[in-house]
Amino acid sequence: MLGGLADPVIVVDDRMVITSANAAAGRLFGLAPEHLVGRLSTDWVHEPDRVEAAERLGALLDGQTVRAATLRLVREGDGLRWVEVTGARFADAKGNVRAAISVRDIAGRIERELAGTRAVSRSHLLSQLAVEFQSVTPGGFTEVVHAALARLGDAALAAVVELHEIEPDGTTLLLRGRWAGRGTTAERAIAAARTNFADVPALRAALSGRSDLVEVRPTDQVIDEAKSLDPSLEVALAVPLRPGDQLLGLLTIGWPTAHELTNDDRDLAVSAGRVVGTALERVRAQQALLESEALFRDLFHGSSAVMYLIDPATLRLVDANQAAADFYGYSRTAMLGMDLHRLTVHSKERLAERVESLRQDGATSVIEEHQQLADGTVRHVEIHSTPMRIASREFDLAIVQDVTDQRLAHANLQRLASTDELTGALNRRRFFELVTAELAEARVTDPPGALLMLDLDHFKAINDERGHIAGDTALVAFADACRTVLRSDDRFARLGGEEFAVFLPRTGLDQALRVAESIRAAAEGSDATVSIGVAEQEPGGSLDALYARADRRLYEAKQAGRNRVVG
Ligand code: GH3
Ligand code: MG
Ligand code: MG
Repeated sequence: MLGGLADPVIVVDDRMVITSANAAAGRLFGLAPEHLVGRLSTDWVHEPDRVEAAERLGALLDGQTVRAATLRLVREGDGLRWVEVTGARFADAKGNVRAAISVRDIAGRIERELAGTRAVSRSHLLSQLAVEFQSVTPGGFTEVVHAALARLGDAALAAVVELHEIEPDGTTLLLRGRWAGRGTTAERAIAAARTNFADVPALRAALSGRSDLVEVRPTDQVIDEAKSLDPSLEVALAVPLRPGDQLLGLLTIGWPTAHELTNDDRDLAVSAGRVVGTALERVRAQQALLESEALFRDLFHGSSAVMYLIDPATLRLVDANQAAADFYGYSRTAMLGMDLHRLTVHSKERLAERVESLRQDGATSVIEEHQQLADGTVRHVEIHSTPMRIASREFDLAIVQDVTDQRLAHANLQRLASTDELTGALNRRRFFELVTAELAEARVTDPPGALLMLDLDHFKAINDERGHIAGDTALVAFADACRTVLRSDDRFARLGGEEFAVFLPRTGLDQALRVAESIRAAAEGSDATVSIGVAEQEPGGSLDALYARADRRLYEAKQAGRNRVVG
């Protein structure tokens, strides 16, 4: 009955199932007419148009008047086709309700109609895409890409739109999103399809050249793969995404046979490439930042070294690792937000100055200071402080090492090397070092200082009569007696045997004689008396001369009968 009609016609029953179709319908649908029979007519309608098509057909079968409908037809194994559908209701020989539907291919007309409005809607589309991508995060990137590709595909009347990203190896393209006009879900198609583009000349051209756009023709291998989505695919535009200097990926838009590429299509592809490329760049930068932050977090929290982060603006702890919590004796939660001042023995002002000066050079600085633990213990620490940016905020990373024991051991060694073991007085070498330094620093307004040379009287006799140990004890007692007379900045040394020296900084002769007399008197009450020679440093005089004068006066004191002071 339908065979003679030139236009495609199908007949459906009241359940919209095809009961007959002519040869033209078979050609349009892409199936032999007999294979159309028995199938649901609406299956051939592009999914977005399907509900409306079913409603209209239902109304027609109900006997209502229905206007011609324009919709997209899904051809078997092929792309979309714009068609105009009109129908008429009738009853067959047995009185069953039927509808005869004429389906006209209007692809050419639609194309012409759309061309007029396309320029406007395309620029609107691009600004919409730019806005959508503005706030895209690495997590939401795939979703935004899918939506964007679908819009782009609709606006370009394309069959396939794909976004490939270049993998870090520089030779592989990773499919980040695909829109196929037939309603193929992008999610299904996105499975990590990787293409080694070195094998595909068209891709190589698109990616290696400096051109904005490469036209890909059916002879190119790259079309083969895309043809699995839409076998009618004939031509594609490939846009290299180069937002900066670096090539990040490729945006391709493919059209079926019927499509004539226009300059409008080329402009759209290049502009869309710019929008998508910029978004890709941003997402990559965010991704890199997230990755480096994650790496830092792993290092920070996994480390057994004591670490904390401070906000230099507020001087508060922003984070502290478990090792820090263990060291300072606070819980980690207690340390978050804690005032840095609680860890140090400095005043707040001094602390702020210190942090500021450490930041000046921008590199890691090493400082030593005293810090305070939760229980009040003070520890000597070495702090490596590094300014750093995390998520565009400034921080200082402090890595802290407890060097208390090391420094104590060092101080002990120093003391041992500079004092006399028996009496605790300075040794000769250290005494002359200190005196030399003090004379060099003496100000002209003060007296430069005085030197006392001391020698115990008849000490040989003590040893001989009461033994060497009693002699040692007498030496210690004498040293103790001297220290009760001396002030903290006076220097007291045992030069050897039973000879001692005292340097009194910023002290004139009169005062020095009084100190010497006190020492002499103090010694008088113990086992041995002492003779003392006193000399005052003369402005510009040498230490040797001072020593010689004091020593001569000591000799004079001995000569004069011992147990006396000569100045
Ligand atoms: P004077 O200075 O009054 O002339 O008589 P002196 O007996 O002190 O004379 P001298 O300087 O000759 O003797 C110093 C003595 O001090 C010699 C030594 O027996 C004793 N002596 C030196 N060093 C030590 C020491 O480390 N321990 C003890 N027990 N005796 C020491
Ligand atoms: Mg002597
Ligand atoms: Mg002596």
